[in-house]
Formats: sequence, structure tokens, C-alpha cells
Amino acid sequence: MGGVPGAACATGGDGDMARVKKCRGMKWLSVAMVVTGCAALSSTAPPPEALQPIAEVRATMKQATNGVEPPQVLVQEIPGAGMYEIRNGVPVIYIHPWVLRNPLALRIVLAHEFSHWGHGHDWRCQGRIHECEHEANVSAVWVIQRTWPRLDGIYLLCTWIKGTAQGAQANSMGHNSQWEYEQFRAQFQLGENCKR
Ligand SMILES: [Zn+2]
Repeated sequence: MGGVPGAACATGGDGDMARVKKCRGMKWLSVAMVVTGCAALSSTAPPPEALQPIAEVRATMKQATNGVEPPQVLVQEIPGAGMYEIRNGVPVIYIHPWVLRNPLALRIVLAHEFSHWGHGHDWRCQGRIHECEHEANVSAVWVIQRTWPRLDGIYLLCTWIKGTAQGAQANSMGHNSQWEYEQFRAQFQLGENCKR
């Protein structure tokens, strides 16, 4: 992390897991864009039903970083499902309100965005945006396995990425979701449709 403003944006729509679309990517913004873009929207604290999963994932990340305080999570109508941003030097995670209505999507998005933080993704991702997204995808599996061991993190992430790759925004904001899907499947040796 550093002082350079950066955001890992995820775009998503309403609906169930199969329809979930997400652009998991680094979106590098100028200071002016941060001020006039996402950050200009009003953010609110997460509702009670989201507090427990957020607390659970923060506890995992805090343990993994030997006590470093993980970012706060705010709810905001961002252009996607989730977003990680370093704002004035402070890392913040945003979640779109629709994600809160889908418990699985919430956990996937939290795991992915907290992974960006865990990796210290910031300006160093410039020029290797796709690789940083892949890192966050892979680490999100670890986060899910550590935080919610009853969930199948590999399958959840794979189907999430696949849904993104099939979505209208698969290549938006400089992303290449099909590449990420193939990378993810290769990483975990998955067949077509995320089958083991
Ligand atoms: Zn991302």
C-alpha cells in the first residue's frame, strides 16, 4: 500500500451467483477522479446482517498479518460489486448494496477485496493489473478456506470468475476476465465449467 490513489474495482449486477458479474481489476484513478468519482458518493456503514461476515474475514486477515488492522468496509453504490481503494493513504473496501442481499456473493467479494489488501496491491500493480487480479482471486480461496471452511472456495471463485468472463463487462476497465478464468482453472487444475 502506498499514498498513490488506486482502486480495485469490481462491477456486478443484481441476481444469483450464476448471473453475478464482476470486473475484478485494478482501476487506477487520478486524485481528481477519486474526488469526483466513487468517493463523491455517500458511503454508509454496513447493515447488521453484513457485520458478522465482515468481522469474520477481518479477524482472519488480522491474524494473517500478525495484527495489522484490516481496512474498514463501507457500503456504497459503486459501479461494481466491490472495490478496494487506497484513499488518502488509507485502504478502504467498498461493497455495493446488492451484494449484501447475496450471502455467497458477499463472502466472495470480501475475500477478493481483502486479498488485494493482504497483497499490498497499490501502484505496484500498474502494468500488471491482470496478474494482481489473479493473485487476489487465488488468495481469496485461501481467505474463504480460512474464514468459512464449510464453503468450497475454489468452486465459488471459479464460478464467479466464469460468470464475469461471460458478462458484458468481461473486458471493461482494462480487464481480461477470460484470461483470469483460464489462469484460475490452471492454478487449481480445474476442467471446463470449474469441474475438478
Ligand atoms: Zn480485484
